[in-house]
Amino acid sequence: MSDKIKIEKKVLSANDRIAAEIRAKLNQHHIPSFNMVSSPGSGKTSLLEKTLAHFKDKYNIAVVAGDVQTENDANRLLKAGGQIIRPIVTNGMCHLDASMVEKSMAEFELDKIDLFVIENVGNLVCPSSYDLGEDLKVVLISTTEGDDKPLKYPGMFRRSSVMVINKTDLVEYCDFSIPQVIENAHQINGQLEVFQTSCRSGAGLENWYDWLEKLIQSKKAQ
Ligand code: MG
Ligand code: ZN
Repeated sequence: MSDKIKIEKKVLSANDRIAAEIRAKLNQHHIPSFNMVSSPGSGKTSLLEKTLAHFKDKYNIAVVAGDVQTENDANRLLKAGGQIIRPIVTNGMCHLDASMVEKSMAEFELDKIDLFVIENVGNLVCPSSYDLGEDLKVVLISTTEGDDKPLKYPGMFRRSSVMVINKTDLVEYCDFSIPQVIENAHQINGQLEVFQTSCRSGAGLENWYDWLEKLIQSKKAQ
């Protein structure tokens, strides 16, 4: 085994230990969680803004927002009505790891949280290797990208449970086929649940909210 592989294995097993602690803590408090992943600019923050605004009188949603630099996204989420928002500035690191998430959720009052969301750094490669203790991964892809991304980044689509196709209002201006991206994604992962949204027009958001509602309620009942 090369030294590089040995070091990577060690880092990942340390990460997995912390992720398991996070997962146990969230489960103990019946808090569902997901890790949002995508390329930069697919609309993770926009979808979260809509989601926070929609549920602000009903649920306490805690968000950890990762970015390479700036706390801009965390500030947007606060403005949208988010109350429990923690920025993580990774200072150049291209993914979040479990220790960053653990640190940023240290002061959370878990009894008061209904849903925990991690907005990962925009990157479809290494965030797929880092378990952050979440229940599931939600991968976003927007119509301004290539509809072959599931084939180019299969690891991420294989490990995700949900795919959100965002910016559907722009599809007529782009060389992007919604049926094709769904076919490509299902070729990699036949179980992937698919939503189609436009954060600008609001199209499809109700289905996304319904799914979140069910996620929250089913975890509460566990
Ligand atoms: Mg963002
Ligand atoms: Zn990385």
